[in-house]
Amino acid sequence: MYSCRVRTITRHPISSGENMAKPTTAHSNDCNTSRLIVLTDLDGTLLDSETYSFDAATAALDALRARSIPVILVSSKTRAEIEPLRSRLHNNHPFIVENGGAVLIPSAYFPFPITDAITSGPYLVIGLGTPYTRLRQALKDIERDLGVPLRGYGDMSVDEVARRTGLSFEDATLAKQRDYDEPFIVEGQESTEQTLAQAIAEQGLRWTTGDRFHHLMGVHDKGAAVRRLIDCYRHNVRQAQPSLTMLALGNSLNDLPMLAVADTPILVQLADGTYAAGLDLPGLIRAPAPGPAGWNQAVLSLIR
Ligand SMILES: [Mg+2]
Repeated sequence: MYSCRVRTITRHPISSGENMAKPTTAHSNDCNTSRLIVLTDLDGTLLDSETYSFDAATAALDALRARSIPVILVSSKTRAEIEPLRSRLHNNHPFIVENGGAVLIPSAYFPFPITDAITSGPYLVIGLGTPYTRLRQALKDIERDLGVPLRGYGDMSVDEVARRTGLSFEDATLAKQRDYDEPFIVEGQESTEQTLAQAIAEQGLRWTTGDRFHHLMGVHDKGAAVRRLIDCYRHNVRQAQPSLTMLALGNSLNDLPMLAVADTPILVQLADGTYAAGLDLPGLIRAPAPGPAGWNQAVLSLIR
């Protein structure tokens, strides 16, 4: 296990590329030609871990919007959960759901076709994950083979999900609408972790750990989904700008693959003021506060 390298936030401000030439197609907009893109986890990062509020990050969000810098939501949450949040954030950018299970891009966002996407409502959806029914079957197979109770969202009522997460009944209902990722807990001793990891690998699957749950998923992660989306941005800006800078913020182990592909990875504090164990990256910046307050300070320090 590694420890994070401490670094104070004194970097030079990052250019947003506000003076870039804009594409001339009918689909162009001011928001997808920025040289800087912000990628962010939600729970415990942009959203307070208890209240799920982003109020403490309002100043930084406003500053990014004023500079036309896209904020990409990259979460273990479902599409059904993220859609209303995007509305509250006035965010019209692509987003990544269920730990990288799919990339959802507003249909007219990029002025070129995305050949591996399917149309679903107002989005082009690039599916990267393993179907949920397969994950559920695998979880129950592993539970039976190991004799260790594994309790997933599919085993929980909406009330139980709400109680375990602090979500409202309505939001917990949206959280259960899963396609690519099964959050679960191990009921009993965590000393079975190595055996569990082996059993999951034998199923050809992966797992990671988020804020409250382990997550069973296919061979994808937040990093793979980010790379697929960034390919689109790079394709879009190639004519005008050779480089694109990614700033990413997270708080848990499941954010590591996303932080690893970013130029500027930022780890925000957990609610108790500590940092998640097991996260180390070259150039990792530690935000000086938990959740959205840390998000706010870190982003403002870097873009001003
Ligand atoms: Mg989180």
